[in-house]
Amino acid sequence: MKRILVAHALFPESFPTLKGFEIIKPQKGAFSSEELMQHIPSCDAFISMFNTPVSAHLLSLGKNLKVVSNVGVGYNNIDVDAATRLGITVCNTPDVVTEPTAELTIALLLDLARGITRSHVAMHQKQEKWGVLENIGMDVYGKTLGIIGFGRIGKAVAKRALAMGMRIVYYSRTKQADAIEKEYQATYVSLEQLMKTSDFISLHTPLTSQTHHLIGKKELELCKPTAYLINTARGAVVHEEALIEALQQEMIAGAALDVYEFEPQVSDSLRCLTNVLLVPHIGTATRETRNHMAAMALQNVVEYFNGNPVRVVNP
Ligand code: NAP
Repeated sequence: MKRILVAHALFPESFPTLKGFEIIKPQKGAFSSEELMQHIPSCDAFISMFNTPVSAHLLSLGKNLKVVSNVGVGYNNIDVDAATRLGITVCNTPDVVTEPTAELTIALLLDLARGITRSHVAMHQKQEKWGVLENIGMDVYGKTLGIIGFGRIGKAVAKRALAMGMRIVYYSRTKQADAIEKEYQATYVSLEQLMKTSDFISLHTPLTSQTHHLIGKKELELCKPTAYLINTARGAVVHEEALIEALQQEMIAGAALDVYEFEPQVSDSLRCLTNVLLVPHIGTATRETRNHMAAMALQNVVEYFNGNPVRVVNP
C-alpha cells in the first residue's frame, strides 16, 4: 500500500478511491507546515498545491518519498534542486490550466480597457456618472498586445486577442518557428521594443531565477503612459515596488494582477490604488479545472509507481 500525502482538501469528486493507495488529506483547508512535516516521513508520494512551500527541509524529512506532484503548472514553490539531489521526482499539471488562465487574462484585459469593475463599484455605491463624456475607456480592437512568454498560455491568450482584432507582438526565451508566428500572426520583438510599443502587456513566463523581476523600473519607464500591464504569471516576475511607483506616478495607465510578489500578502499601497485591478490568484479557479488539475496530479503519482513517470520537471 502506497501512502499519498495531499496538502489541501479538494472537491470530493477530484480523487477516486484507488486500489493500492492510501490518501492522507485534511478534512478542509490546507495542512499546516507542521502537519506536513509530521505526515511526510510515512508517505511515498506528496501532492502539493501551487502555493504549498515545498522546502529542502520538508523534502529531507520524506524518508520514503519518491515523487512530488504539484497541482499547478508553475512549480516555483518547490525546491526542485533539493528534490533532484534527494532522488525525488517532481511532476506538474500543464495543459489543463492553459484555457482558464487565458480566459482570466482576457477578462482582465477587457475590464482594464472598459472599466467594468470600476463602473460596477460606482453603481453599487450610487456614485456612478452618466453622460456622453463619462466612463471613457479604450478600444481593444486594433490595439497592440505584447505577450511576454510565448508558451501554452501566451499562445492561448494570443488566439483570443487575435479574434478581438488585436495586433500581437511577443518576447520569449525562444523565437517561435515561422509557421507558428504565422498561425498566431505574432511578431517577435525585443523586450525593450515590446514595452515601448504595446498598449497591453501580458506576462506568461514561469518564475525562475532568470525571470525574477524581469519587469522592473527600467522596463516600466519604457511604456506608453496609456499602457496597461496584466500579470497572471507569477508575482515576482514583476518588481512589485517598481510597479506601485509606476502606478502612483501614472507612468502607465493601469494594471491588473492575479498574482503578487509576496502573496498572500498584498501591500496596502497596491490596495489603495484606483488604477489597479486586483484578484486573489484565481487563474485556474473553476471547478472543472481544479478537478482536472487534481486528477492529473494523482495520475502523475499512479503512473510513477506503474514505472511510467509522466510530466516530470526534473528528468
Ligand atoms: P510554458 O508553456 O512553459 O510557457 C512559458 C513560456 O515562457 C515559454 O515560451 C518559455 O520559453 C518562456 N520563458 C521561460 N523563461 C523565459 C525567460 N527567461 N525569458 C523569456 N521567456 C521565458 O508555461 P505555461 O503553461 O504557458 O505557464 C506559464 C506560467 O503561468 C506558469 O509557469 C505559471 O507560473 C503561470 N500560471 C499562472 C496561473 C494562475 O493561476 N495565475 C495559472 C497557470 C499558470 P521557451 O519556449 O524557451 O521554453
